[in-house]
Amino acid sequence: MEPTKPIGHQTSAVPTGQPVDLSAYDPDETGGLTKADAREQLKTNLRRMAELQETLYAQGKHALLIVLQAMDAGVKDSTIRHVMDGFNPQGCHVYSFGVPTEEELAHDFLWRIHQHTPPRGYVSIFNRSHYEDVLVVRVNKLVPEKVWRARYEHINNFERLLADSGVTILKFYLHISKEEQRERFQDRIDRADKQWKFNPGDLKTRARWKDYMRAFEDAIANCNKPWAPWYVVPANRKWYRNLVVSTAIVEAMEQLKMSYPPAPKGIEEMKID
Ligand code: AMP
Ligand code: MG
Repeated sequence: MEPTKPIGHQTSAVPTGQPVDLSAYDPDETGGLTKADAREQLKTNLRRMAELQETLYAQGKHALLIVLQAMDAGVKDSTIRHVMDGFNPQGCHVYSFGVPTEEELAHDFLWRIHQHTPPRGYVSIFNRSHYEDVLVVRVNKLVPEKVWRARYEHINNFERLLADSGVTILKFYLHISKEEQRERFQDRIDRADKQWKFNPGDLKTRARWKDYMRAFEDAIANCNKPWAPWYVVPANRKWYRNLVVSTAIVEAMEQLKMSYPPAPKGIEEMKID
């Protein structure tokens, strides 16, 4: 099977049931938009996200789970800061998944994840996620191949369970080029206010770039379902990345056709004195 070659504007989810070739996705893509246009559209999206989140909370029927994955300097954090501006912090929780603790490792790989999936009415944002267990774990051979391979099916079953329980799942791979990563790392080294962000350990991950791309391609292809789609987001331009992510969120939330719960009976006659 030939991987699909995406053309032009890349806001749509990756087609399901097909291999993924990340080299076919241009990280510099801007959808033919100018920065100013994209900023305007982002503002509109953020306003709409705020309205939709209020309905999500009021109705208490649906939940939203946003998964962010990227290579280092793919700037998941800045995506969270910009795009999540649209959400009321009271209804939205951000979780970052780092190296598992001893306790976490003593459980199945989804144990630590499941505790942070959003209840109805809420949004959870995952900065890294259960996908690390088929990415870094695979590339660094932290478990035998048989173990990480079986995880695709575990992930699909887990995400199906969430979807069946009212969770809308959106997964974003923020796609930067290796050259863009080089520039961002160098910037972290050169600028006193950014040096704290530089982790020399990230260079080891950079050295395995190709292996990571293969791991991402397989993770995306194997765990890409209509109820839990992956988006490959061109992320060399932050302003375009923010627009793509926010557009996908708005579109998915619109599709839920949410409404406010019914008003208390007889509210029309009520008068406050
Ligand atoms: P950071 O996002 O910069 O705080 O780094 C978190 C680190 O935790 C990254 O190097 C991830 O690859 C690593 N990490 C996250 N999840 C796992 C996991 N399940 N197994 C091993 N390492 C992980
Ligand atoms: Mg890091």
